[in-house]
Parts: sequence; C-alpha cells; structure tokens
Amino acid sequence: MMPASDNVLIRLTSLSKHYGSHTVLDGIDLEVRSGEVLAIIGPSGSGKSTLLRCINYLEPPDGGTISIGSMTIDAARPVGRPELSGLRRRVGMVFQSFNLFPHMSVLRNVSLAQERTLGRSRAEAGERSMQLLKRVGLADKAGQFPVRCSGGQQQRIAIARALALDPEIMLFDEPTSALDPELGLEVLAVMRELAESGMTMIVVTHEMGFAENVSDTVMIMADGNIIEKGPSKDVMRNPREERTKRFLRAVH
Ligand code: ADP
Ligand code: MG
Repeated sequence: MMPASDNVLIRLTSLSKHYGSHTVLDGIDLEVRSGEVLAIIGPSGSGKSTLLRCINYLEPPDGGTISIGSMTIDAARPVGRPELSGLRRRVGMVFQSFNLFPHMSVLRNVSLAQERTLGRSRAEAGERSMQLLKRVGLADKAGQFPVRCSGGQQQRIAIARALALDPEIMLFDEPTSALDPELGLEVLAVMRELAESGMTMIVVTHEMGFAENVSDTVMIMADGNIIEKGPSKDVMRNPREERTKRFLRAVH
C-alpha cells in the first residue's frame, strides 16, 4: 500500500503513440509514487495495453518521456541497448498469456533470466527461485513442467519469474482475464500480497473489486486519453465524468 512518502517513481510526460494516422496514446501525463498501486480500466481499444508496452519499450512510443527514478528516456531520441536493458531490468511485466517455456521445469522458468540478465550463479538463482515459488504458493511444483500446472498456477509462476529480476515496478496486463474465475482468485490473492508488501504496481484489469479494494488509485482511459484519475474508492463509487459512469454501469 501507499507509504507516507510522496516519492514519484514513474513519470510519463506527453507519451504518445500512433499507428499510421490512428492515435493510440494521445500525450499521456502520469505520475506513480513509490509503493502506489494504480489500476487502469477502460473500454477495449482505449490504449491500455499499448501504454504498458510503451512504458517498458516493448513498443517504442513516438513522443514524450519516461522517467523511472533518476533515469529518463526521451522517445524523440534513439534509445541505446544499455538504456533499454536498464529500463527492462527495473520494470517487470506479466501478460494475460503466461508465456512460460514448455520444455523447461517450473524452477528453470523462474531461474533462467536471473542467470542471463543478472549474472547470478545457477545455485543463487535456484535459491531465489525457490523463495519466490514459496511466496506464490508453488514450491511443490518446482520440478514439474508448466503443462502439469493449472492456468492460475502458471500465472503465479509468471509472477515469480518477473519478481526474480528484482524489479522496482511491476506491470500487469489483464493477468486474470484468460482464467476461470476461481483460478483468477488465487492470482489476485498473490497480487494483493504483493501490493501490501509495498511493490509499485500498474495493473490493467477488468476486476472491479481489485480496482476498488486493492489499488490506491484508479485511472480510466478512453481513446488514448486519461479521462479520470483519483483515489480508487472515489473513482469507483463517485465518478465525476459521464463516460466513467457509463463504463462502470456497463461492467458492473
Ligand atoms: P486496450 O488494451 O485498451 O484494449 P490496445 O492498447 O490494445 O487497447 O489498443 C489500442 C488501439 O491500438 C486499438 O485500436 C488497436 O487496434 C490499436 N493497435 C494496437 N496494437 C496495434 C498494432 N500493433 N498495429 C496497429 N494498431 C494497433
Ligand atoms: Mg489490452
């Protein structure tokens, strides 16, 4: 949850993205404080996934800046490899589809990037992986292959894998929408624990309960813009904007 400090960890200024003549991000300005949990909701096609993908440069934005702590990337300038890997190391991401390697054990899935990206030894990475598998309740699956795990378990493994790189920020893009509701709950429980531990999180979600009860702040997007943003209970219970009211009526 939100600490007393007001430290901004992520700052986006005028972040924009176009596909041809289609404006997908229309100059997004956003600040997220250290330890804040921000939920992003909004209609399909409003630019939520593109925003997350631009933050860690899976999609290069075509204007604006991204600052994480003291590091700033200006989308108008060419971005070098060291900057990109610096950014990606600080920002973990969890997708709707878990994308585990099917031919590797669960443990190996969590360990591999630690060895390749952080240069940890196999033993060190294995130990850290076991800690994280325990944290997400899956230590007993370490030696299994992902195919032997449920969708909810696979998503929890994907969360452990992202956490294994010790990110400062975690981005989640609809992490439960490919799951049956009861399997979604076990993933949401892990995300709630992570939020309570103080992780800075940006979560695109359809889970209105998560937005209202776990996140500190809710932001509504439409047509590549932020149409409303505020403390989660205010936005969810007393939205100011007519478009927010309509969206919340449609999804409740
Ligand atoms: P959301 O996640 O809110 O549903 P997206 O960020 O996925 O929205 O998409 C926003 C808009 O950008 C949509 O109109 C989508 O069709 C378009 N879009 C997304 N990715 C691409 C792409 N690679 N090429 C062209 N258009 C895209
Ligand atoms: Mg999306």
